Amino acid sequence: MTAPSLIDALRAAVGDAHVLTADHHDLTAYEQDWRKRARGRALAVVRPGSTTEVAAVVKACVAAGVALVPQGGNTGLVVGSTPDDSGRQVVLNLGRMTAVRSIDAANLTMTVEAGCVLQSVQEAAEQAGLLFPLSLAAEGSCTIGGNLATNAGGTQVVRYGNARDLCLGLEVVTAQGEVWNGLGGLRKDNTGYDLRDLFVGSEGTLGIITAATLKLYPQPAAQLTAWAAVPSMEAAVALLALAHRHLGPGLTGFEVMGQFALGLVDRHFPQLRVPLWQDSPYCVLLENSDSESEEHARAQFERLLETALDAGHVTDAVVAESLAQAHALWHIRESIPLAQAEEGLNIKHDISIPVSRIPAFCAETDALLAREIPGVRLVNFGHLGDGNLHYNVQAPVDGDPVRFLAEQEARVNTLVFDAVARHGGSISAEHGVGSLKAACLPHYKDPVALGLMRSIKTALDPQDLMNPGRVLA
Ligand SMILES: Cc1cc2nc3c(=O)[nH]c(=O)nc-3n(C[C@H](O)[C@H](O)[C@H](O)COP(=O)(O)OP(=O)(O)OC[C@H]3O[C@@H](n4cnc5c(N)ncnc54)[C@H](O)[C@@H]3O)c2cc1C
Repeated sequence: MTAPSLIDALRAAVGDAHVLTADHHDLTAYEQDWRKRARGRALAVVRPGSTTEVAAVVKACVAAGVALVPQGGNTGLVVGSTPDDSGRQVVLNLGRMTAVRSIDAANLTMTVEAGCVLQSVQEAAEQAGLLFPLSLAAEGSCTIGGNLATNAGGTQVVRYGNARDLCLGLEVVTAQGEVWNGLGGLRKDNTGYDLRDLFVGSEGTLGIITAATLKLYPQPAAQLTAWAAVPSMEAAVALLALAHRHLGPGLTGFEVMGQFALGLVDRHFPQLRVPLWQDSPYCVLLENSDSESEEHARAQFERLLETALDAGHVTDAVVAESLAQAHALWHIRESIPLAQAEEGLNIKHDISIPVSRIPAFCAETDALLAREIPGVRLVNFGHLGDGNLHYNVQAPVDGDPVRFLAEQEARVNTLVFDAVARHGGSISAEHGVGSLKAACLPHYKDPVALGLMRSIKTALDPQDLMNPGRVLA
């Protein structure tokens, strides 16, 4: 099929208004990634309105031998949702598929279409008196399809797990254009291989997620937030163990923030009034969700912090007195990426390591980078409760950030990823592989696992038309 006849077939599938091409539309929002690291060129952007239309689009592209790039909110951080620069790929944007198909309060599930923005999924659950706990700073723009395709993490993983753990079923359009309806709301189903778990985290390389059945939870009676200054990363890890013991399943957030990261927030957003950061190498943000009452949550928090102060794991702490104060503390944490951007480009890492090994990893890698690149600055923060650090490396204070990235990125990545491997960690904790890390994967992934992944890709997408070049280079 020629390009013009494919465009005609796509128009017939979804309607003229939903096939966008560069000669008539500005495609920047679809062709450029969130961090503006890559700009591709699409043959067309197609915006289907239903699963049937998605299937028709896939069939038309398969017939033409043209690759598809699935796209949700395009907030991914590893360059996975934008086309390459060949001008031969079709972007399949799910943004029009936003229906909440059903909520089953007794089964604690909801079924939503893939293009639903995460925040609207949270709101729909809340309107039904329930909680959908996936939460991340991009929640106003990212979609549930993208969250599942990347197995997103976020701030509540310590209690509720990643997107995978919150998904009971999927509807998927396969690489051949068939529709697999796996939308059962079952918590138990041992009838063979778990196809849902194949598609979750596959970053659009195996098929298109068109809908999902998600797990819901009761709303907590109270949510309290505390901010604690800790004297070392060892102390932060000791505080985490204490928090698990004192709060049990109430522990719903445990974030660590390094002094330099908080200093950037203080410098670039002074109105946010960062507490307790000046005299401490790290601060920790804790959240306690309680099913009884605010008094109960507060008493638990006070006992935890007293014990931690006595043991020397905490040097000072504040507990938010109101929801507004709690939001303000979370806002500081969520402003770290923006403060980094204000300071200039940096080399970003999203790594995970067993929690017990994080202090040794940080001590060793901080020293290694300081030795190899004198003056380098570390923006270290992340979801310590999940062993996940955003261990970002900023140019020395007088260095040119653009030049630093061009000259040092590959070397810094090798230093950091080798250290991660030595400590039994992963080079991508929650953002995925995309095209940014695809070339690194063979160096750090078990070769047998990589071989099995290639076999699965070939079996499900033999023509390599689903987001080619992503995950598996
Ligand atoms: C400010 C900010 C904060 C963030 N914080 C976090 C965080 O705390 N935790 C975290 O895990 N991530 C975080 N992210 C990155 C995260 O991966 C995305 O925000 C989100 O999960 C991606 O959703 P999306 O709809 O934007 O997907 P996109 O960016 O559009 O796509 C991401 C990948 O999924 C594929 N894809 C998208 N939709 C589908 C579909 N329906 N079917 C098949 N494949 C599909 C794409 O091809 C691509 O490979 C953050 C991003 C930003 C910008």
